[in-house]
Amino acid sequence: MKVIPVQARSDNWMYLGETAVVDPYDAPKIDQAAKDHGANVSCAVTPEADVSQVTRLITTHHHFDHSGGNEAFLHPGIKVYAGSDKAPGANEIVKDGDEFDIGDIHVKTRSAFMSRTRRPASVVSSPETRSSSPAVAASSREMHDALTKLGKLPEDTLVFNGHEYTMGSAKFGHHIEPHNEAIKRLMENAQASDCTTGKSTIGDEKQWNVFMRLDTPEAQWDPVKVMQGLRDLKNEF
Ligand SMILES: [Zn+2]
Repeated sequence: MKVIPVQARSDNWMYLGETAVVDPYDAPKIDQAAKDHGANVSCAVTPEADVSQVTRLITTHHHFDHSGGNEAFLHPGIKVYAGSDKAPGANEIVKDGDEFDIGDIHVKTRSAFMSRTRRPASVVSSPETRSSSPAVAASSREMHDALTKLGKLPEDTLVFNGHEYTMGSAKFGHHIEPHNEAIKRLMENAQASDCTTGKSTIGDEKQWNVFMRLDTPEAQWDPVKVMQGLRDLKNEF
């Protein structure tokens, strides 16, 4: 299976496969990537392009930066997989555990709600504090449940990110776990390439993603940082 990451906006990832596109926000860029890589996908964005060659869209979630390009690909017969009908063009609504085939690829869906929070509410909440509305932000419970579920996937499962936040995550991880060698490796990876997605596994995440290491003794949680998290919780109690 060949998966081609294509960047959209400043930090979004789209993914191009043989007959499917994941989160195709920027259709012209997908079109160009298909040409560059000789993929059998042409994308409806130029008058001569044949939209019918894209047979599947997979929309990870309905936020505009992931589903905002769907309209450019819609044609009779295309299947647009999404978790809800809020995604433009969605006609195959899937829920956690559903399975379907794309060519010879068998897809199993996993629902994991982890939209970022406006501000950290506790020691376990997201460091990504930019522009999301609190109305769509995952609670700490939802984020913990989602990461626990993903942590149960086979260790060698490749991880493809929705966004390129690796450097920020590595810096934050190093702040939380300064002696974690895996986090230092993650930072080196981010320094070496702007494209880190698809190059690591769930097993790696368990070593360097501090949000997946809450019950890992080796994480050696700094009591001062835990105290700060508890104080933040108490202040909002
Ligand atoms: Zn996003």
